[in-house]
Amino acid sequence: MMYPWLRDVTQKITNQFLSKRLHHGLLIEARAGMGKFELTRDLSQVLLCQTPNIEACGQCKSCHLFKHGNHPDYFQISDLDANSIGVDQIRALVNKSQHKSQLGGNLVFVVNQSYKMTESAANALLKTLEEPFPHSYIILTTESVSQLLPTLISRCQLYKIKSPTLPELLPWLNEQKIEPTQFDVIFEDMGQAPLTALAHYSTDYLLKRAEYLSQFKALLSGKVSTAEFSKTINEEDIAFYYIWLMQALNKWMKVKSQGVDLQIPRQDQRYKIMDMYQAVLTSQRQSHYNGVNKKLNYQQLCHKISHSQTSGV
Ligand SMILES: [Zn+2]
Repeated sequence: MMYPWLRDVTQKITNQFLSKRLHHGLLIEARAGMGKFELTRDLSQVLLCQTPNIEACGQCKSCHLFKHGNHPDYFQISDLDANSIGVDQIRALVNKSQHKSQLGGNLVFVVNQSYKMTESAANALLKTLEEPFPHSYIILTTESVSQLLPTLISRCQLYKIKSPTLPELLPWLNEQKIEPTQFDVIFEDMGQAPLTALAHYSTDYLLKRAEYLSQFKALLSGKVSTAEFSKTINEEDIAFYYIWLMQALNKWMKVKSQGVDLQIPRQDQRYKIMDMYQAVLTSQRQSHYNGVNKKLNYQQLCHKISHSQTSGV
């Protein structure tokens, strides 16, 4: 079933295709966890279908081959774990695009995570985008076009897909018997990427989140020492700790601006929430640097926060 937030872009591209106005180079931009892989798969089936209508017919020889994963005119580069897409992979694709399709229809090439292309790989693709072979379509996906060469972007038709809002997701959540209020917390944590949020919904994510924040509040109020707090660190979750902290601090800031109780003890307000937020953000950035000991980096943040809390009280 098609994800509801992908319906508009799918219809747009399909209509352009059916009215023979579809550009041969498509560039799809959406953040991770939006279903780009499923989107390019569905679109490819439409472009290859022998009797396409609003969607692929699902009955023809092409659709049949496609569904079984062995369509001879469909090629995709989508090794999600690979660090880069090399020039050899793109040359192989370009080479195939210069031959006739085996089924007599279109040729479809998909490069998922196209931002992983090395510069020479991107350059190898440029020429094909400039002088496309008839009946061939190239679909590129990326999380952000800022990661791509401008020359590459300018040779494609760009489709930007926005994250849906929670109200827009309600029917979809209902169908899957998902509780919207709980989902919303994860959805916001995950930058409104529905599929990433969904993946966490079925785990003990919310429980871990609540436990963490309650421990953090205890650290702030001095009920727990930095050393004790450090014992609860699970290295695999450090990336989440930053998200949870920033979301919580954001919420506290909003509560404060509304003049409501801060939910953290008054004597701890000395270290301002804004400063704390800055410290968390800086620490999060540092955690992405090469060779950084993530745990140590995070412990330093905790020390900094709790030290600022207690000094001068
Ligand atoms: Zn078909």
